[in-house]
Amino acid sequence: MTTSLRYLLTGGAGFIGSHLADRLLAAGHSVSVIDDLSTGRLENLAHLRDHPRLSFARASIQNETVLDRLSSQADVIVHLAAAVGVQLVVDDPVYTIQANVHGTEDVLKAALRYGCRTLIASTSEVYGKSTELPFEEEADLVLGASSKQRWSYAASKLVDEFLGLAYQRQHGLSVTVFRLFNTVGPRQVGRYGMVIPRLIRQALRGERLTVYGDGTQQRCFCDARDAVRAIEALSQRDDAAGRVYNIGTQHEVSIRALAELIKELCASRSEIALIPYEEAYGPGFEDMPRRVPATERIEALCAWSPELSLEQTLRDTIEYERAALEA
Ligand code: UDP
Repeated sequence: MTTSLRYLLTGGAGFIGSHLADRLLAAGHSVSVIDDLSTGRLENLAHLRDHPRLSFARASIQNETVLDRLSSQADVIVHLAAAVGVQLVVDDPVYTIQANVHGTEDVLKAALRYGCRTLIASTSEVYGKSTELPFEEEADLVLGASSKQRWSYAASKLVDEFLGLAYQRQHGLSVTVFRLFNTVGPRQVGRYGMVIPRLIRQALRGERLTVYGDGTQQRCFCDARDAVRAIEALSQRDDAAGRVYNIGTQHEVSIRALAELIKELCASRSEIALIPYEEAYGPGFEDMPRRVPATERIEALCAWSPELSLEQTLRDTIEYERAALEA
């Protein structure tokens, strides 16, 4: 039996944070959430509103007073608060860079004051345009030019990774970095560009499904409910400190095939439209044709592997979106 821990989740009202809160509360831990609701939503935690072991603070992680108080009461901090989503990054690069870099610095400083074990969420974006598949944690990272906005997100998360690992090395703080690969499922919103909630909404509303480029690009989609089991496992391993872990599946699907599957599962008569990248994201946008995680490291440490199939995830997400549309 594991002992009950006090977790602080930054960005805990977000899509992944709220699934992590579900998981940790079910395992008997206490969860405190700090979220400024910029992209997070209170409704993601609505079903937990009266939970005796959950507390919520609506505040930015750059609010030092609140962050300090909550960190002083935590054993473990999982830092998920960040500007995420390719669309948001392209639309508001200044906000993305500042939120990601300063926010993580503030969290690490607070964690150090109280000796909280810290996990920092990073992203498969940091592998950039690498073609050395599957992406291994120790592999070289291949980002595009700084004139291309997309890469500012990867660069900002990389600074977070370097900073976290430096706090471990220089100050002895226990810091683990995890890189999430295309995490999906109920509660994810499409507003910031994520493909699955966008295509599902389009299919349910009878709008055309917007497949960018020629649709042959492939991704491995991991259910958030699987991903949070991995985060929970990492947070309870002393030997995960000072290292980076990929979290994702190796099951690849093309975006075109994904659109067809969504259309079928929604019983939709929507058309599938191919939209040039420039039209979707502006000129000079670079997408990567494939992105697959190496998962040996997390499998070996935590005996973790994903359990939910893409079809199951899509069915659950469609049900969630249908209910939201009818509400
Ligand atoms: N995409 C798409 N239609 C959309 C949104 C995204 O075809 O409406 C594509 C996007 O260009 C990428 C893939 O779907 O090739 C996954 O996009 P997402 O933003 O979900 O994650 P990414 O892998 O880009 O981080």
